[in-house]
This record gives sequence, structure tokens and C-alpha cells, in this order.
Amino acid sequence: MRRRATGAAALAAAGCILLGMSGAHGAPLGVAGPRDAGRGPPPPQAARFMLVVHGGAGTIRRSEVSPEAESAIRAGLTEALRRGYEVLARGGRSLDAVTAAIVVLEDSPWFNAGRGAVFTSAGTHELDAAIMDGRTLAAGAVAGVKHVKNPIRLARLVMERSPHVLLVADGAEAFARAQGVELVPNRYFSTERRRRAFEAARHKVPGTVGAVALDSHGDLAAATSTGGTGNKLPGRVGDSPIIGAGTYASNASCAVSATGHGEDFIRRVVAYDICARVAYRHQALADAVDEVVLRELAAAGADGGVIAVDTAGRYALQFNTEGMYRGYVGPDGKIVVELYR
Ligand code: ASP
Repeated sequence: MRRRATGAAALAAAGCILLGMSGAHGAPLGVAGPRDAGRGPPPPQAARFMLVVHGGAGTIRRSEVSPEAESAIRAGLTEALRRGYEVLARGGRSLDAVTAAIVVLEDSPWFNAGRGAVFTSAGTHELDAAIMDGRTLAAGAVAGVKHVKNPIRLARLVMERSPHVLLVADGAEAFARAQGVELVPNRYFSTERRRRAFEAARHKVPGTVGAVALDSHGDLAAATSTGGTGNKLPGRVGDSPIIGAGTYASNASCAVSATGHGEDFIRRVVAYDICARVAYRHQALADAVDEVVLRELAAAGADGGVIAVDTAGRYALQFNTEGMYRGYVGPDGKIVVELYR
């Protein structure tokens, strides 16, 4: 059976970039189309890695996104993919690739994570982030931090340098200080664009950034970072830093990062649910993602989307909203970025 290195390569070769419809899935060529994407034998180990990122799902209307915003968002996603690709292409770890990609998005004012975090109802910013290692099931997360420039770096330190999985608020910041993590005043996160949205009391700011990766060692990782939902109550924590809800990775199944209405994603343990379908029902990744996002979440009126990748490098980007900022890159280095449905 003839086969290509990754879903991206296969789709490009087949001339069908599927991101334009309601999301996309990737499958090695010769393993048939997206619907069968979880079932084929994997491509050769040597050339196998994959990185998928999202910059949030929500009410993204083309008419409401200025050309300036659109090119900044595309540039941010492209740079995140490029940085993660550099790690993976030199044989680096998926954990380092997702960290590198998320840091780029956190430093950009155009995404609801790090610098561009939304406002709480009190006019402040509280950030959440999580990271998970699919090889060991090690995980680290932080919630409600107000002065950490890159929450994903702190989440990683919680995973690697503490015996805990989740640290919140003041305790998380004390740990950040002890670890020498870069701190900033809370107003660092107050961008003009978010202030206008806050003052207009618009609740549906598309948000959150995420990355999932498979590295050439066969290891999966997932990471998610967010400012949460706009106008949230101080103290509110969403799905992003909750392992299994907004973020999950296991080499036994897949890696998932979610975006959307966090309360619904917590109640439905969305990221773990997708991985469990793959592990226990032996469902194809694409089918598991479609069932959860398009059928179950949509039926419950839960807005959002996910990105996912499995240990064979098959990937899925799916959402039930008007758009999801998203992109992917595989061993061919071809970066694909899409914003709308
Ligand atoms: N899921 C995030 C949260 O509920 C928000 C988002 O993805 O827009 O905190």
C-alpha cells in the first residue's frame, strides 16, 4: 500500500486542503479518506511528526475581522507553527514543540491568552494554562494567575518541578517567583482591543490557544492557554487547565486541546472523552472528534472546537462555531492556516 508521511502531505498531494469546510482531518494517503482516518497502519517512523494549533473558536465573522486583524492572526498562527516545527524537525520533543508554539501565541496581543487575555467582570485579567505529556501522563496546570507573562511556562514547571498537577492563584504565583518565572503587572494584559470588547460587554470573544503534537519519537503532547471567557467572574476557572476537560494527552490514544464554552467542556470531560473513544472503542480519531464536537456538543448547545493528533500522525481540527483560528504542519514543512468555516 502506497503511503505518505502525514495527513498534511497527503492532503496537499491530493490537492484537497479540507480546512475550508467544517474542520479537517488528516490521514496518511493510501489509508483512505478522513472518515477512516484512525484505522490505517502508520507511516514510516522516521519522518513522522505533526503539529496542530488553534487560536480559539467563536463567533468569528469575516465581516467583523479587519484585514489588519486577519493578517496579524494568520501571522501569529504561522509563527507558532514555524517555531514548533523547528523543534520537531530537529528531532525535538512534542512537549517542547507545543510549549514553543503556545509562547508565540501568548506573546501576541491577538489571541485570548497571555498578552491578549480578556477582561474579567472586575476589569482585571486571570489566566489559565495546562500541559500534558502523553508518554508519562505527567501534567501541569495553573489557574487564576494574574502576573505570569507566559502561563504555559509555569504550567510546565508545575509538571516538571513540583509534585502537583494544578496550582491556583496566589500559590501558583508564589511558585512562579520561586522558579524565577517572568512576572508582569496585571495591566500588561490590558490591550485596547480587549478593553473595547469589555466595555461593549460582548461576552463571546473568540479565545484560547492550544497546540497538540506528535514527535519523531512517537510521543504525544497537548497544551492549552487562555484568558478564560470575557467578563467572567473573578475566580472562575474554565476547561483549559482542567486535565481531561480542555487538555489531555496519552500515547495510548491521542492528544487533544479544546476551545469553547468551558463550563460545557468540563461537564462533558471533552478531551478525555475523545481519547477514551479512541482507546476503548477503537474509534478513528476523526470519528471520535466529529461525534463529540458536531453531534454531542452541538446538540447540547455547547459552542467550541478541538484539535487532536494520534500516535500515527493523523490529526483532526473540528468546531461547531462559525470559525476557529487553526493550522497545522507536518514533516514537509508546509504550513496551513485557516480562520473561517
Ligand atoms: N475554553 C475557554 C474557557 O472556557 C475559553 C475559550 O476557549 O474561548 O476558559
